[in-house]
Amino acid sequence: MITHPTYIYDIAAIREDFPILHQYHHDAVPLIYLDSAASSQKPYQVIEAIQHYYQTYNANVHRGIHKLSEEATQAYEGVRKKVRNFINAGSRREIIFTRGTTEGTNLVAQTWGRNFLKPGDVILSTVMEHHANIVPWQLLSEQIGVKVMYIPILPNGTLDLAAYERILRENPVKLVTVAHVSNVLGTINPVADMAVKAHDAGALILVDAAQSAPHLPLDVQAIDADFLVFSSHKMVGPTGIGVLYGKRDILEKMPPWMGGGDMIATVTLEGSTWNDLPYKFEAGTPSIAEAIGFGAAIDYLSAIGMDKIHAQEQQMTAYLLERLSEVPGVTVFGPEADKKSAVAAFVVEGAHAHDVAQLLDAEGIAVRAGHHCAMPLHTELGVSATSRASFYLYNTYDEVDVLIEALYTVQRTLR
Ligand code: PLP
Repeated sequence: MITHPTYIYDIAAIREDFPILHQYHHDAVPLIYLDSAASSQKPYQVIEAIQHYYQTYNANVHRGIHKLSEEATQAYEGVRKKVRNFINAGSRREIIFTRGTTEGTNLVAQTWGRNFLKPGDVILSTVMEHHANIVPWQLLSEQIGVKVMYIPILPNGTLDLAAYERILRENPVKLVTVAHVSNVLGTINPVADMAVKAHDAGALILVDAAQSAPHLPLDVQAIDADFLVFSSHKMVGPTGIGVLYGKRDILEKMPPWMGGGDMIATVTLEGSTWNDLPYKFEAGTPSIAEAIGFGAAIDYLSAIGMDKIHAQEQQMTAYLLERLSEVPGVTVFGPEADKKSAVAAFVVEGAHAHDVAQLLDAEGIAVRAGHHCAMPLHTELGVSATSRASFYLYNTYDEVDVLIEALYTVQRTLR
C-alpha cells in the first residue's frame, strides 16, 4: 500500500472550521463527505458572516439612505470587489451576481444569444458538459434556429482538440461554451488555448467554471474568457448566489434579461431605460445575505491560497486513483491524475451505482450516484449511471482509505 503524501496545509485546522464534518452519520459512523462536486460544506466563518448580517445590519441594498442600508450596500458591493480580485477581472462592472452557474449560462443565451445570433449560427459545446451548458443552448436553438454542435471526447476522457479545430474551420461557430473542469471525468480542459482558437475563428468563448472556481486559481484575463460562470455553493459559500463574468464591451451591448427594480435608469408608462453595468442585469432585491456569505467564502479560500488548494487536491487525486486501481472490478472514468481535478466517477462490476452509493452511505460515506446532470456524457461512456466520489480541501487520505475498505465491503455484500 502506498504511504500518505504530506499535507500542503494544516488539514486539522481546516477540518475544525467545518462543523458538519464532526458529526456521526446515522448516529453510528463518522461522516465522510465525498460529494463536494454537488455542493461543498461551509466553514464557521461563512455561517457566522450570514448570521452577523441578519443580526446586526440586515436591510435592502442600493435603496435606503439610512445607516443599515448603507452598511448592507457596502458589504454587498465589497463582495463584488472580492470576486473581481478572485478571478482577476478588469473591472467590478464585469461581475454580475446571479443565482448560480445555471442562471449565468441562461442569461448569456437569452440576452447575447437571442439578440446577436441568427438561424444557422453554431453554438459549440462539448459532450462532457453538465446539462446547464447544454439545455440553455437547445432552448435557444428552438427559439431562434441556431445549431448546437458538440466537441467529442477521446477514450481517455479529454476533449478531441483536433475535432475542435476542424469544427471551427468548417462551421459558422459564434460561441464556444465549455466546462473548465468536467463534473464527472474531472478533466481540466485547456480553456486558454481553446479561447485563442475560438477567437481566431471569430467566435466568443464561455467558460463554465462551476468545478474549477472552487479548486484552481482563476484568471479570466489570462484565459481571455468572454464569459465565465460559477456558483458560490460549490466553493464553501452559500446556495442562491453565483457569478456571471463578462467582458465589459460585450455586456454593454447586451440588453437586460429580467426587468424590475434596480436594473433601470428611468421608467415612464411608455418605456424604460437601463441602469449601468452591472445593475442592468440584477433586477429585484438580490441575495444579500448569500452574497455576504460568499464574500466570507472567498476570504476563506484566499487565506489558504488557491494554488495550495489545487496542489493538495492534485496529491489527493493521485492517491485516490492509485488506491482505486487496487480494487478489482472497479473502473474509473476520465484521464490520469495530472489532467484531472478532485473527482472520480466509477462503476463497480456487477453492481448498480445506486446500490454502491447506498451501501457506502451505510458506512458513513456520502457519494453521489446517477448521471450527475451529464446524461449525454454517460451515453458516450456506455453506462447509465456512475458513483462519484468528489473531494475538497477538507478531505483526508484516511478518508480515501476508508472508502477503499468500504468498496471491498460493498463487493462482499453484493456478491
Ligand atoms: N456546470 C457544472 C460543470 C456543474 O458541475 C454544475 C453543478 O453541478 C453546474 C454547471 C450547475 O451549477 P448550479 O446548479 O450551481 O447552477
